Amino acid sequence: MSSVNDTTMVIGRKVIVAGNWKMNKTRSEARQLMEAIKKGITQSPDLPEVVIVPPFTDLTEVESLIKGSKIKLGAQNMDYRDSGAFTGEISPLMLKDVGVEYVLIGHSERRQFFGETNATTNLRLKAAFAHGLLPILCVGESLDEREAELTDAVVARQVGAALSEIDKDHLPKLVVAYEPVWAIGTGKHCEAAEANRVCKNIRSTLQSLFATAGAKSTDADSVPILYGGSVNAGNVDKQLDGQNDQVDGVLVGGASLKADEFLTLIAAAEKRVKHLKSAAVQ
Ligand code: PEP
Repeated sequence: MSSVNDTTMVIGRKVIVAGNWKMNKTRSEARQLMEAIKKGITQSPDLPEVVIVPPFTDLTEVESLIKGSKIKLGAQNMDYRDSGAFTGEISPLMLKDVGVEYVLIGHSERRQFFGETNATTNLRLKAAFAHGLLPILCVGESLDEREAELTDAVVARQVGAALSEIDKDHLPKLVVAYEPVWAIGTGKHCEAAEANRVCKNIRSTLQSLFATAGAKSTDADSVPILYGGSVNAGNVDKQLDGQNDQVDGVLVGGASLKADEFLTLIAAAEKRVKHLKSAAVQ
């Protein structure tokens, strides 16, 4: 497994489209959806990194269907321990065993409904790095926090706490997703320019967090930062527009459940890759 693909070498960091199916799709439904995505996906050299994040029960099914394609497998969560008496939990070893490469860490639904905290997010991140998984760290403010103009402070605190005591050498394997809680599954999305602004602040936070650890100032530049929150075929172009240079892709819930719409999002990200490649050679 590599944290860098060919496209990344040309454009600086990965462009990623990740589809979080949440608690949806039985095995046969997963098979149907994956067949349709595979049929529609292009063989273009500008294909972004496409990550499918199904529920645990679909992981082996999806893994067998993506064999031989460029699609990557992700998990929605994991425990930070390797094994033991933790009924209902799934360990990093188990995820690796079924071919998982990416794992969502600290998704707001985990924080909101399952008691996950900044501290447990930190433990999960450490475990993901220790096992060679690529974590997608999810951060974002609630509506109350946004209205109280606390967005930047909340997001910086979440990023800082999640990455506490994490070695700078892990930065090339990190992905961050800015997902304002008020935008997730609500149909309200964060305006592109505002998402870009917050993603830029996240990058500055990463830079200052690791500056004292001796990271090069360019290390944080290699971290893909995604936007998530009601992304769909109607708003994805703005999020991935060339001007939104701090948004490196999208983490998508609802719109990843229908092949046609998900393929539209992939096509938008493909345009972004093409744009970055042509800018790099000029
Ligand atoms: C998500 O689950 O991470 C998400 C962004 O969901 P939705 O696209 O449905 O808002």
